[in-house]
Amino acid sequence: MFYHLKKKRMDPPGGWYFVTDDNFFIKAGNFDKLVTQVKRHFDVNSQEIPVDVATLIEDQICRRIPASLVLEDIFNRFPTEGEIDKSTRKVVTKLRQEGMVADDTATSRQESCKNCRYNSWRHGCFSCSVASRLTAFTLRGRPESTRIKACDITHSLCNPMSFMQEKVSVELFGKIPIDEYPERCWLRKLLEKNNGE
Ligand code: SF4
Repeated sequence: MFYHLKKKRMDPPGGWYFVTDDNFFIKAGNFDKLVTQVKRHFDVNSQEIPVDVATLIEDQICRRIPASLVLEDIFNRFPTEGEIDKSTRKVVTKLRQEGMVADDTATSRQESCKNCRYNSWRHGCFSCSVASRLTAFTLRGRPESTRIKACDITHSLCNPMSFMQEKVSVELFGKIPIDEYPERCWLRKLLEKNNGE
């Protein structure tokens, strides 16, 4: 699902900007100019321009501004702390039972989450939650990214997810329709591979 601004002519807090998947920051004076500049960026870098680029830009803006400025009921989308706790506990339990992938695999997955629009920062601090404590204990000594939080699709914290064995990923998240995951998601790629796609 993509979100839409209630008023596209009103400057959003922080202004009109878009951050590309490769972390390039593009700023403009209004929405239409931003769309033009983002297209130009793709063009200049010989990257394919997504057909729905304007929608992607609008959606990204909606995810960082107050929910009251967004057309849809945005908070319905984000998992609650309870949901995150539940999902993350399942992941961490499996990490303990089945073991973890190598650090370099996990690090590359964390990079994928870092630039993902479903890496959600909206649900506050989890430092006191059971899931966070379990994660810290289970992942001690392993690389973790401070720039990733929870995945809006799986409802789990991203750091422990990045250490999942393939069979665990399929078992826990294989039932989520593949199209819900964004194209560049490491988990999507893994599930597609498992489905023989
Ligand atoms: S959708 Fe994929 S890349 Fe995005 S946060 Fe979730 S697991 Fe990470």
